[in-house]
Amino acid sequence: MIVLVSACMLGVNCRYDGGNVRDEKLITIIEKENVVPIPVCPEQLGGLPTPRKKCEIVGGDGFDVLEGNARVVSEDGVDLTEHFLKGAEEVLKIAKIVKADLAVMRDGSPSCGCGRIYDGSFSGKKVEGYGVTSALLIRNGFRVVSVEDLNFQL
Ligand code: SF4
Repeated sequence: MIVLVSACMLGVNCRYDGGNVRDEKLITIIEKENVVPIPVCPEQLGGLPTPRKKCEIVGGDGFDVLEGNARVVSEDGVDLTEHFLKGAEEVLKIAKIVKADLAVMRDGSPSCGCGRIYDGSFSGKKVEGYGVTSALLIRNGFRVVSVEDLNFQL
């Protein structure tokens, strides 16, 4: 089984703060099951530096960004939507190349968020919704799950 995985959860230091959120439970699942993990970081693939400013979606979620009805903005007010769209397109390209069976994504992220994202106020409040990359993958027929909802069944 070929599975795209948010790279920060595998220990890659690609988060906005230059760190990672290595997820031992996820890595155990990958090692036990017959999984080929493909690490992707849409924000790096979109040309953003690491470390970088924290970003949130303002005015909707990733589906709204794809429709042109919401924007991704950094905490200092810079519109970085084009980077997030580029990153999503690059991940979609990879998903097609490797014929991914599934994507396991990190919750909360404006790129990878799957079911829950931050609400655009930079206050730490989460709302229902998807990041830009998760939305694009879903829109193109890929199965996407949040690591929070992953229960030892791939
Ligand atoms: S964009 Fe996704 S893979 Fe990259 S740091 Fe954020 S949550 Fe992790």
